[in-house]
Amino acid sequence: MSSPFSWIRPEPWGIHVVPPDIWVDPSRPVPRALVTHGHADHARGGHGETIATPATLAIMKLRYATSQGAVPVGYGETVPLGGGVSATFLPAGHVLGSAQILLEHAGERVIITGDYKRAPDPTCAPFEVTPCDIFITEATFGLPVFTHPPIGEEIGKLLAARAENPDSCILVGAYALGKAQRVIAELRATGQSDTIWLHGAMEAMCNLYEEHGVALGDLRLVSDAPSKEAMRGSIVMAPPSALNDRWSRRLPEPVTAMASGWMRVRQRARQRGVELPLVISDHADWGELTRTIAEVNPQETWITHGREEALLRWCELSQRRARALALVGYEDEDD
Ligand SMILES: [Zn+2]
Ligand SMILES: [Zn+2]
Repeated sequence: MSSPFSWIRPEPWGIHVVPPDIWVDPSRPVPRALVTHGHADHARGGHGETIATPATLAIMKLRYATSQGAVPVGYGETVPLGGGVSATFLPAGHVLGSAQILLEHAGERVIITGDYKRAPDPTCAPFEVTPCDIFITEATFGLPVFTHPPIGEEIGKLLAARAENPDSCILVGAYALGKAQRVIAELRATGQSDTIWLHGAMEAMCNLYEEHGVALGDLRLVSDAPSKEAMRGSIVMAPPSALNDRWSRRLPEPVTAMASGWMRVRQRARQRGVELPLVISDHADWGELTRTIAEVNPQETWITHGREEALLRWCELSQRRARALALVGYEDEDD
């Protein structure tokens, strides 16, 4: 382990921390894993030991029905991993429990962001800018075209659509972990206290958020609605996959909305039959990605997944050393 940073090695299925033989967000089961957050492409089941924040471990327990080998580490806590390497978990601002992982070995500091964003989110702790030598960043929305508007604007569009359609409901497609709870919490922050109706697939994760101190107000299941009429003029949340399936027939003339960073691309909205695209993302947009690299100011930037080329080019143009890692198994599922 004499040459600089030889203790950390990117492999196609994850970042390998060599001396303690631990993997970060591995896309296949390993004996020991560090997990940045609960989205399925980062938090696979089946590891012997999983080191993560308590909220991430709770999310994994909910998804995989086991907490075997769970090792909780709170934000700001440092744990020795063996082989002279330590890990510190820092908030990433992506979803409940999401963390950047700071790895230190012989004075060398490497940060793996997992997914992150800089925009405020009432459902999770904000991203902390932390100095390091190598900054390993995501790039899901790593193109200049991706600018996420302030969420208040998009929530305003949602409320306006509801006001214009008092005999319908607004059906909002949102991922069950993170996006759904963020949209609900933002609605509550504007003073909306009426019932928000949920698809059954969202109930358990909303309960988990509540248990972790994120108040979501009056939520009820669509399956418990006494009639279609009860849902007129209200907001209904469902996973994106349910937007156009049989399930939505029980709703009163739904206006279909979708909360995703991809809604910036009109064609994507059209393909999904979305009438009300809401550009709401839990990832950093282009401006946040480049600003964050400038603020962290590492010696080197490694780019894990997403649209690497443009960010790589930006780093070159601003005289920053960078490389793209060809990691496999990460999807855009959690946008
Ligand atoms: Zn994610
Ligand atoms: Zn991801």
